[in-house]
Amino acid sequence: MTEKWSNEWGQKCRDLEENWKYVQEEIAKAALRAGKTAEDITLLAATKTVPAAVVNHGIRLGIRHIGENRVQEFLSKEADLLPCDRQFIGHLQTNKVRQLIGRVSMIQSVDSEKLLAEISRLSLANGLCTDILLEVNIGGEESKSGVAPEALEELAAKAAQTPGVRVRGLMAIPPAGRSSAETRHYFEKMTQYFIDMRAKKSDNGTMDYLSMGMSADYALAIEAGANMVRVGSALFGAREYPAGR
Ligand SMILES: *Cc1c(COP(=O)(O)O)cnc(C)c1O
Repeated sequence: MTEKWSNEWGQKCRDLEENWKYVQEEIAKAALRAGKTAEDITLLAATKTVPAAVVNHGIRLGIRHIGENRVQEFLSKEADLLPCDRQFIGHLQTNKVRQLIGRVSMIQSVDSEKLLAEISRLSLANGLCTDILLEVNIGGEESKSGVAPEALEELAAKAAQTPGVRVRGLMAIPPAGRSSAETRHYFEKMTQYFIDMRAKKSDNGTMDYLSMGMSADYALAIEAGANMVRVGSALFGAREYPAGR
């Protein structure tokens, strides 16, 4: 992969420049349709499998937030990255939390009390408070992580009382390959949960992010109420996974 990337370096950079402009324009248009402006929407670049040098080119173009999926991959790139806001968006095992605390500004994928407790414990041990999003398994898919919608309220109540963490909102990945009508329905359901949770009195009034929408559907997500989208392949091109994955 490394060789391929270096061979195609110039083209990759030109593509990224074009893609970055295009995605920003699409976000601005979708924001207007939702009665918002581009400034209301946080664009987080999903950088899994993308080498640090390419991510850095994006950062020079203006990417401000990046999201990584795997702890190991993040740690291996971290030192090479230009300054930017780093978040964690992948499925997280409790035994890996230790390696993330203090290194990312937000963990978007909190879906269990066990994970919540571990983030809390290690944040407090380091004198920190970690921002989190609660990930909702909005499609009720067995293969997906995320808390079941029925269990969201309980997890949110627990999180609100847990020291060392601050709930900043919700995250979801709706089922792939559905019609846009179906996908919109999932996004709208998430928006409703987000609105309901914000309306409830909670100790910390910081429920400010609704993170949903990826390359295939970020405009739809924004129209349905997202204020953070996580975009990977629409910026960096199709991912090239190393053989064996
Ligand atoms: C990979 C990934 C994305 C971005 O996916 P694209 O379809 O490439 O835009 C967003 N969110 C999460 C959690 C991801 O793992």
